[in-house]
Amino acid sequence: MLLITCPNCGVAAEETELHAGGEAHITRFGPEASENDFEDYLFRRENPRGVHFERWRHANGCGKWFHAARCTATLEVFGTYSAQTTEPPREILETIRAKRPAWTWRDLK
Ligand SMILES: [Zn+2]
Repeated sequence: MLLITCPNCGVAAEETELHAGGEAHITRFGPEASENDFEDYLFRRENPRGVHFERWRHANGCGKWFHAARCTATLEVFGTYSAQTTEPPREILETIRAKRPAWTWRDLK
């Protein structure tokens, strides 16, 4: 069972109380974007075996969206954070790095 803590209301919710919203931090493109950029935005998603950043909604709770960092292989949740961010918070990246030394995030130094 997947247990994720909603950062908006603080409730540790079971997977059945949440609604998965797909990959987090998708970059939107403007009207000047190429067809390939627009196609990537609409259809191409990461599907890693390992660390993944996802959107979730606390559907049977506060109803708000948030982001979660978790491992798709072990279901370990590294942390949750506001959906109003364009990238994961540094403390969550450092938590992941401490548990998965070989893992890298593009901006983690
Ligand atoms: Zn909530």
